Amino acid sequence: MKYEAVIGLETHVQVRTASKMFCGCANSFGEEPNTRCCPVCMGYPGVLPSPNKAAIRATVKAGLLTGCTIAKFSKFDRKSYFYPDMPKNYQISQYDLPFCEHGRIHLEGTGFSGSPLPVKEIGITRIHLEEDVAKLTHFGGVSGVDYNRAGVPLMEVVSEPDMRSADEAYAYLTSLKEIMRYGGIGDCDMEKGQMRCDVNISLRPEGQREFGTKIELKNLNSFRAVHRAIEYEIWRQADLLNQGVVLKQETRGWNDEQGETYLMRTKESAHDYRYFPDPDLMPVCFSDEEIEAIRRELPEMPEAMRERFIADYGLTAYDAEILTADRTVAAWFDKAAKLAKTPKLVANWIGSELLRLLGENKISIDECRITPESLAELTDLIDSGAISGKIGKEVFAEMFESGASPKKIVESKGLSQVSDSGAISQVVAQAIAANPKQLAEFKAGNAKLLQYFVGQVMKLSKGRANPQLVVAELQKQLNA
Ligand code: ADP
Ligand code: ZN
Ligand code: MG
Repeated sequence: MKYEAVIGLETHVQVRTASKMFCGCANSFGEEPNTRCCPVCMGYPGVLPSPNKAAIRATVKAGLLTGCTIAKFSKFDRKSYFYPDMPKNYQISQYDLPFCEHGRIHLEGTGFSGSPLPVKEIGITRIHLEEDVAKLTHFGGVSGVDYNRAGVPLMEVVSEPDMRSADEAYAYLTSLKEIMRYGGIGDCDMEKGQMRCDVNISLRPEGQREFGTKIELKNLNSFRAVHRAIEYEIWRQADLLNQGVVLKQETRGWNDEQGETYLMRTKESAHDYRYFPDPDLMPVCFSDEEIEAIRRELPEMPEAMRERFIADYGLTAYDAEILTADRTVAAWFDKAAKLAKTPKLVANWIGSELLRLLGENKISIDECRITPESLAELTDLIDSGAISGKIGKEVFAEMFESGASPKKIVESKGLSQVSDSGAISQVVAQAIAANPKQLAEFKAGNAKLLQYFVGQVMKLSKGRANPQLVVAELQKQLNA
């Protein structure tokens, strides 16, 4: 039997704000445990929460960037449960009136496994805002609780069950992360727990409309883990279904070392969280004008940026993809491209040399000594024929080391291209005289040796001779 996978994701994204969701404690990562908390986020009796406006605005932004409808009236609810990660015994969340609903994320391009993705939209059911819970750490039979994370603003993005493969889930997450980062909403560093994702997956016989029994997967610590866990589950569920097993709803964990999922709990009955409106918090209202004002502040998204780079700067889709993979690189390139005569050349230098050097030196583009201005100057020098591409590489390396301007480097090292016909004719004569054997072969009809002579002349001139003039002069002297 052939089966089709049905996948929906529930993704948590920490919102990047200065302070926590309902108190003034710092929202910062990696501090000494339990040093960023107060009576409010520690859940002391009698304290009053006060909502973080910036976190609410960021959530609205996330909604606008994913085409959601923004609620003009919403509220916070208490989700009751007992667990050491939440000292109040309830989490402030949103139940029936989330800030954002009915959005979508566009999928296109090549999937993680290398095959093309179907061009489609993945529906966003809702985006709501809640508070994060404390971090539990278990070691040597002891458990530690760090409340620094308790109360950090956390968005939950729930997708429709619209994905059909591990590749689509991977692409959805990549796109979601890109939107959050470009929008300045969250950094989404999975290693820091700033983005966490649960996968819901079921199988149905191909052609069947009804969904099968859904399994929820947890403990997924990277996009790659999400991809692997989905592929594993598709295989595991198909195998059971083929044996005639009736699947039951359950929650499974992912063991990354073993590369398999394991049973965490079966879902005998639905949780009763006893949601009710938080009596300490006022409902949140937005007017059309307020929503439009936030819409006007939205930054350009990577998809729009890629289209602009292709249309305005003559980049290939591949170049545009590479340059927009990181928001700071994209902005850096945009600046250089606006200054340079040939933006495509700027893109080539970033793609082939700069990103490699940044990786090797483990620094970001903003920390590097080459500036958008200096790279534009370099490409203009090459463009105008003042230096050759080969010399350009030498200048580029020097720029990366010292931060000097390319014009200064070319001047002080005497690297400018030689286009003086007298000088060129002299080196050409020298190269021919030094290679009598090759000259004889050339005269005997081996025309390929022209390239050999070009190489010799470039060597003698230390790469500075204008290659076009060299070829013309060689043809003249060799055929004389
Ligand atoms: P629950 O009530 O268990 O939380 P929801 O209906 O709220 O379930 O859905 C949670 C997530 O599971 C959503 O992302 C949704 O798209 C996805 N989902 C729902 N039903 C299925 C299914 N049969 N197969 C796969 N994913 C599903
Ligand atoms: Zn606090
Ligand atoms: Mg649900």
